[in-house]
Amino acid sequence: MSFGRRGLVGIALAAGAMVKAKAAWLSSPAHTTDGDSGPISLPQLPWDESSLEPAISARTVSYHYGKIHRGYVQTANAMIAGTPYADMPLVEIVQKSAADPAQKQLFDNAAQIWNHDFYWRSLAPKSGGQPGAQLSAMLVDGFGSFSQFHDQFLASADGQFGSGWLWLVMERSTKKLRLVKSANADTPVTGKIYAPLAVIDVWEHAYYLDYQNRRDEYADAVLAKLMNWKFVEKNLEAV
Ligand code: MN
Repeated sequence: MSFGRRGLVGIALAAGAMVKAKAAWLSSPAHTTDGDSGPISLPQLPWDESSLEPAISARTVSYHYGKIHRGYVQTANAMIAGTPYADMPLVEIVQKSAADPAQKQLFDNAAQIWNHDFYWRSLAPKSGGQPGAQLSAMLVDGFGSFSQFHDQFLASADGQFGSGWLWLVMERSTKKLRLVKSANADTPVTGKIYAPLAVIDVWEHAYYLDYQNRRDEYADAVLAKLMNWKFVEKNLEAV
């Protein structure tokens, strides 16, 4: 899946959508600068590290957030120090670096920060299962039934070759919900085709300690126990 991040970025999002997007995606998390210094801060997790158990262990969250996510923040901050990127909001760093092939390494790190922040907020303890009536109706409209959505979610998570992400999005042109895969750090926030609603990290580091190679079991557990439908609803309101 490509989101056309070479050339569709920055101005691609309508100005109104950008303002709403910032309100929904960037203003809500509390931020901390623990463990890093620089203009990009590491967002606090929205729940305790152990609260996703047993679907995702505290050990996985601690390593994933405390080492991997934090590492992207530290690397990106080192790269943008003293450059014009240092004065931009994170989403703008992602969009501008995506448009410049010379900034591939910055894009990879900045996009991974944005994607991980979105991932943590896509998960919540004691969540998952079927959403409320309105969102259920949209899933039926997009996928045929909740069961078909479930099956496609698992198949898509399992079918992403190598590292990447599986996104629940609203296709802006049709207003329908879709599942789209992205490789490595690629993210729909660089394009105008899809509004991201939720994401699941399908890099091995997200599940290997808990599930080894059984990525479909990890995806099943996330959908059944952790999918934060309230976050999806909030993002839909902002589209
Ligand atoms: Mn990850």
